[in-house]
Amino acid sequence: MVEPNLILQNALIDMYAACGKMDATLRVFESMKNRDVVSWTAIVRGFTKLGQIDLAQKDKFSWTAVIVGLAINGCGEALDMGIKKIPGCSTIEMNRIVHEFLAGYELHAQSNDIYVKLEKMAEDLKKAGYMPDKLAVFLNIGEEEKENALYCHSGKLAMAFGLINSKPGVAIRILKNIRMCVDCHNVAKLVSKMYEREVIIRDQTRSHHFRHGTLKITGEATILDDLL
Ligand SMILES: [Zn+2]
Repeated sequence: MVEPNLILQNALIDMYAACGKMDATLRVFESMKNRDVVSWTAIVRGFTKLGQIDLAQKDKFSWTAVIVGLAINGCGEALDMGIKKIPGCSTIEMNRIVHEFLAGYELHAQSNDIYVKLEKMAEDLKKAGYMPDKLAVFLNIGEEEKENALYCHSGKLAMAFGLINSKPGVAIRILKNIRMCVDCHNVAKLVSKMYEREVIIRDQTRSHHFRHGTLKITGEATILDDLL
């Protein structure tokens, strides 16, 4: 009998969790002989995304996985648990200088230009059919604020900075310290199409290479990455 494949099982967990089908997610999870950090993170992420923090914190889930899940979903409860949330950070190199952005960062010398560019990008993206994925914001705030919070993610600030400071056609390369959220993923994909730029984002687990609105993954990829 063929040994069930960990990558495939992780992909299934990721898919069911992304669809909010937590019963099916748990069935696959509990049937697994071996689990790795991808399995744990996917399942906890699913629960936290649905706001089921209590289930995500059950004893059987590791605290590390819970924290990662909460942090990925931008959930303030990571702080309530007395644990410092890892802030999302994106870096981009330009003319041999590394520029670092945190979500909502306003202290960069070009911050004004960056936020003007983000507004323009938002207009262009919406014309191209982009819908902000407000599920990526796990905050108790209004719809408009959620949209604004999404635009200020560190990856988008770095993308806007890259667009302003490089010539047309030059690839934009960003390094992230945590996994990229769904919304930043969607934006990067559209940016690569609308502005004809290659966008390469290396996050915690893999490298996402966007070109002409399509995605190529390298690293620890799953067949379902295009959903993220
Ligand atoms: Zn994001």
